[in-house]
Amino acid sequence: MKSFTMARTVINNLVKGPATLMYPQRKRTFTAITRGRVENDINKCIFCGMCSKRCPTYAIVVTKEPKEWGIDRLKCCTCNLCVEVCPKKCLSMDNHYFPPARERLMGIHKLRPNQ
Ligand code: SF4
Ligand code: SF4
Repeated sequence: MKSFTMARTVINNLVKGPATLMYPQRKRTFTAITRGRVENDINKCIFCGMCSKRCPTYAIVVTKEPKEWGIDRLKCCTCNLCVEVCPKKCLSMDNHYFPPARERLMGIHKLRPNQ
């Protein structure tokens, strides 16, 4: 019985082809609920700092003057807490991952001076 199961597995593996993707020729498609990266619709943000206070990894920095919202993506553990607490619902979880980076950069969003 075991040899039959093993033979079936071998045949299945031969017919199905590789389980891995031919990256980067074939890109992975993410589901809608994938927690990729936090995005901010900065025009709706009121710079209240709620997201920064609740972030467990201290990844978000908010300053009122100048009006800036920044995120250290290497610190973010994509827990979604900031998205849940934002009173203006301007934060969202994009289902794509941030591209690889060589340096530790803050993703800074600034409100334009005339707003
Ligand atoms: S909680 Fe929302 S509105 Fe407040 S600073 Fe963060 S992103 Fe802006
Ligand atoms: S998803 Fe979690 S870890 Fe990432 S910035 Fe928001 S609160 Fe912080």
